[in-house]
Amino acid sequence: MKRRKRINLRESALIILRQRYLLKNDKNEIIETPEELFERVAKAVASAEANFSKDPYICEKYAEKFYEMMANLDFLPNSPTLMNAGCPLGQLSACFVLPIEDSLDSIFETLKYTALIHKSGGGTGFSFSKIRPKGDIVASTQGVASGPLSFIKVFDSATEAIKQGGKRRGANMGILRIDHPDIEEFILAKRNENTLTNFNLSVAITDQFMSALEKKEKFPLINPRNKKVVRYVDPEEIFFLIAESAWETGDPGVIFIDTINKYNPTPHLGEIEATNPCGEQPLLPFESCNLGSINLTNFVKDGKIDWELLKETIHLAVRFLDDVIEINRFPVPQIDKITRLTRKIGLGVMGFADFLIKLNISYSEPSAIEIAKKIMKFINEESIKASYELAKERGNFPAYPGSIWDNPETPFMRNATTTTIAPTGSISLIAGVSSGIEPLFGIYYERKTLENVFIKEFHPLFIEILERENFSENEIESILEEVKEKGILRDMKLPEKIKRLFVTTYEIAPEQHLAIQSAFQKYTHNAVSKTINLPKEATVEDVKNIYLKAYKLGLKGVTVFRYGSKGEQVIYIGGSE
Ligand code: UDP
Repeated sequence: MKRRKRINLRESALIILRQRYLLKNDKNEIIETPEELFERVAKAVASAEANFSKDPYICEKYAEKFYEMMANLDFLPNSPTLMNAGCPLGQLSACFVLPIEDSLDSIFETLKYTALIHKSGGGTGFSFSKIRPKGDIVASTQGVASGPLSFIKVFDSATEAIKQGGKRRGANMGILRIDHPDIEEFILAKRNENTLTNFNLSVAITDQFMSALEKKEKFPLINPRNKKVVRYVDPEEIFFLIAESAWETGDPGVIFIDTINKYNPTPHLGEIEATNPCGEQPLLPFESCNLGSINLTNFVKDGKIDWELLKETIHLAVRFLDDVIEINRFPVPQIDKITRLTRKIGLGVMGFADFLIKLNISYSEPSAIEIAKKIMKFINEESIKASYELAKERGNFPAYPGSIWDNPETPFMRNATTTTIAPTGSISLIAGVSSGIEPLFGIYYERKTLENVFIKEFHPLFIEILERENFSENEIESILEEVKEKGILRDMKLPEKIKRLFVTTYEIAPEQHLAIQSAFQKYTHNAVSKTINLPKEATVEDVKNIYLKAYKLGLKGVTVFRYGSKGEQVIYIGGSE
């Protein structure tokens, strides 16, 4: 093996890597270094190159390029790829959607597949909308149906038991259409803090509902078994209930299912009913997707964006993600089949908030929206070009005929989608940057890992700027002491130019959060993971307004979180909690 330069990782990154990513032997001893981890992943992924080339050195060549890209922390693939590439399990995707039909057979078959996916570190999304409502008839037993909620609970308990082999929190998305007769029970399901802890819930809102809401017309709830109207509801009441629950507990989120299907790249294969757990990846039943994110902070050189380097990285990252599909070992044949038909990949970004700081732009300012559009437009366009070039060498994705790409402008396309904005909850910690496109949570934070270890840190760019602004050592020490207590800079005596750059999530107006989400969504094929964080004082009315704006902006979904509304949070601001 080549001698490798030590990768420059922060202490918090090392903690996470040691806990969950570096391979261990059967005595639970760590048997690889971070350099060896990236080498393992690079080699495994680059082995796919042999499928398309006779060049005997092609795998080595790309293994080296992939290694450099990861070791520089310019790009990281989603966690399952880092954990499982080059290992016997070999399941590399973060996102899955599984079908649930209105039969015990289908429900329990999917439960088994869910267990297999969780074991490998993947997250699962389901639509429970086809299940007949509570109290409906069951012909075979002449009994009474127990409804979607009872089955969501079964999936939640199973997830609890598996806990993804200890490496990852069991993550599920449960979706119910807004016209399902059990919709109120679904909306209220997580008001009790200790239920469905392994589920995010989202209501699939339809255009028909939004129109009924606007026109103040009664809205029909329909039994999915026989398509008959069960009763009519006041859409305003349902809308209020959703906003109130989200205000209280953060759940449910909403997805705009018709908007999602409007952009379905392969409508000839069927309708999209659900997304993965964090909402950024709408998928067909049995489809999976592997994600990867570019660390934007690495592309700022002396306050300017290095577009050439970014372009190179985008092209290499698309190739990497397409190679992942080649070597991926899927837990069940149906997933293998449809994933290879569409070959969806999801390239996104992390470190957006830190990137803004490096460019001397405040997350709160209009220029943050402009730069978001500019950067994502570039990534989207280049990723399409990269996929186009790959298709020339490797062939189009098999479901290309009949897809949205099937036109003279794009005679070649390797992947039905190329871009997704993931939360990057873990990989941003490994890269040591802010997560996804979220603003900073605090300038000092304590973050709880899966193993309940608290990582305590000051924002590294904050310390850097204090040093650059020539504060003395003593001054820096007392500033940090105060930041540790307060978490944010708002009430501190510091120069405005510093305070404006280090603005934190609950200080940013909800409209600005939405505008940033919308800027990224405009240039993203799949969806955008973003939480609209609200201060504690926000009202249910505020939440409703956010939903209405999100719908009008054409977003595919929206999640709100009001500070302090849930019992347990993963990140606390400041040291006071
Ligand atoms: N995910 C999961 N369990 C987790 C975290 C994430 O199953 O504990 C899945 C889920 O589908 C989520 C996706 O991975 O939407 C991407 O999440 P993230 O970007 O945070 O993952 P990372 O690659 O940073 O670990």
